Amino acid sequence: MKYDPQKFISIIKDKTGGKRLVCPFCNGSQFTTTEDFATVLIGKELSSISIGLSIPSGMIICQKCGHIDFFALGALDLLNNREEDNDNGKQ
Ligand SMILES: [Zn+2]
Repeated sequence: MKYDPQKFISIIKDKTGGKRLVCPFCNGSQFTTTEDFATVLIGKELSSISIGLSIPSGMIICQKCGHIDFFALGALDLLNNREEDNDNGKQ
């Protein structure tokens, strides 16, 4: 299943009740997203960061200062076809 940024944005708008977003760092109000999702690597061992478990995430990016907010796609029910191999986004 391909990541659909329009669906991601639609769900974020729905979850926030259409609330106007404001950047917590610069008070900017213009945001964008990316065509592709990001993966936030997670792990327990601080001495060796490795590619292992990850949280697939959609991003909202402030167009004024570049601040990025990550949203776990699993929590937004956007990982339907990936639940068997990685459900870390459902925390
Ligand atoms: Zn900003």
